[in-house]
Amino acid sequence: MQYYSLGKNSPNVDFRTAAITGQAPDKGLYFPSTIPKFTEAEIERFKTLDKASLAFEVMKPYVGGTIDDASLKGICAETINFDFPLVTITENISSLELFHGPTLAFKDVGARFMSRCLGYFSKEKKASDGNSKITKSSDDNTTIKPTTVLVATSGDTGGAVANGFLGVEGVNVIILYPKGKVSPIQELQLTTCGQNITALEVEGSFDDCQAIVKEAFMDADLNEQYNLTSANSINVARWLPQQLYYFFAWQQWVAKYQDAQGNYPAMNIVVPSGNFGNICAGMMAKASGLPLGHFVAACNANDVVTRYLSTEKYEIHKAIATVSNAMDVGNPSNFVRILEILENNFSVLTKTLSSYSIDDTITKATIARVYKTNNYTLDPHGAVAFAAAEIYLASLEKANTNSNEQYNTNSYSAIILETAHPVKFPEVVEEAIGQTIAIPDSVKFLLDKKKVSTALAANYAAFKNWMKEGK
Ligand SMILES: *Cc1c(COP(=O)(O)O)cnc(C)c1O
Repeated sequence: MQYYSLGKNSPNVDFRTAAITGQAPDKGLYFPSTIPKFTEAEIERFKTLDKASLAFEVMKPYVGGTIDDASLKGICAETINFDFPLVTITENISSLELFHGPTLAFKDVGARFMSRCLGYFSKEKKASDGNSKITKSSDDNTTIKPTTVLVATSGDTGGAVANGFLGVEGVNVIILYPKGKVSPIQELQLTTCGQNITALEVEGSFDDCQAIVKEAFMDADLNEQYNLTSANSINVARWLPQQLYYFFAWQQWVAKYQDAQGNYPAMNIVVPSGNFGNICAGMMAKASGLPLGHFVAACNANDVVTRYLSTEKYEIHKAIATVSNAMDVGNPSNFVRILEILENNFSVLTKTLSSYSIDDTITKATIARVYKTNNYTLDPHGAVAFAAAEIYLASLEKANTNSNEQYNTNSYSAIILETAHPVKFPEVVEEAIGQTIAIPDSVKFLLDKKKVSTALAANYAAFKNWMKEGK
């Protein structure tokens, strides 16, 4: 498997180079040269395959031989060693809970997979350095220096990356987060790891953190000294494994709804979207033959894609702050990959994807209502998805009424992706439901830990100076 740059101005690379460098030299995103296609017999077998074996079969073609099978099996098994339950909320809407990983965020899957791949490549490099006296050519940067993962976070990415990369040899992680703008649990998750993880507390906004990271990737001088890579979803090793939970959701859907003839209602999927990496991974799974229903991108006030689908005009803007802050993105980086999957065909796009923009008032009201009516606690991102799912299902029902067909509730169902545990957004959720949320046992240990971070002014010069000082 080769990867080409969507910038169309860089050489093709294998999975290993794409994972180590993150982005192509022309700053384009990497995209697989062919999307693997599963046969009907394979799909049938996937219905009951165990999670680890399924993960291995899905990821193997993408890794394209750069990791041996036994190691890839191990990486897959570790990546997904927690639950992804599909929980019923209402008759028509179920929640795929993606927050049972170590940092209570769906980003755990991508971060764990990517970190283990980089760890594997780093060990492989060490072994080859040890065995051969041949001097590496100077342009093969990827095999000479340790990798430095640089990541800006509004909260969730940082924790998942810190946890996923902790103790991985040959990889250092630097996390930039905006001071006072992440929740207490999120801050503990990214500042208490130690070892190869460093947290920089930036005196500014998430946009400031992001700007510093972007400038660092452009800085030839810094790249000369460090092997910089990104752990955002632009990196194929973080983006592609997100396909897995669509497979896991579908397995549970089939087990629940399949009739004696093997038929089941379409599984429509509503994804709370920011950079569109997650939903785009789901669309890859569908493109490889997984029988998924319609996709709905649930957005907050940051509605570039929602507007694009109705106007065909793509107008990026500065990120608007909302209560679902992991989706506060004004220029979604992965949307170009969705266009690529659908071969830049706008009419195919509008048939495959819908999008709704949900404001903060409705988001909070949805958390309150679903708690009261259905006894289910949504986090703000899940609430955006739930509200969008209701609008989408109502639109299906209306279309069907107009066509005079018998309305059958079973054929109009959707799953929402619950991307974070509500305890990570306590202020918003507790106010909406009028209750405190219990901290899950799996993160209680954090409360006894001490935050360690380095304060940094919100400008690139300060960052570069800190890097150059040798930290
Ligand atoms: C990152 C994140 C999202 C958005 O995912 P994208 O892949 O950027 O679209 C949604 N919800 C939560 C809780 C997140 O952390």
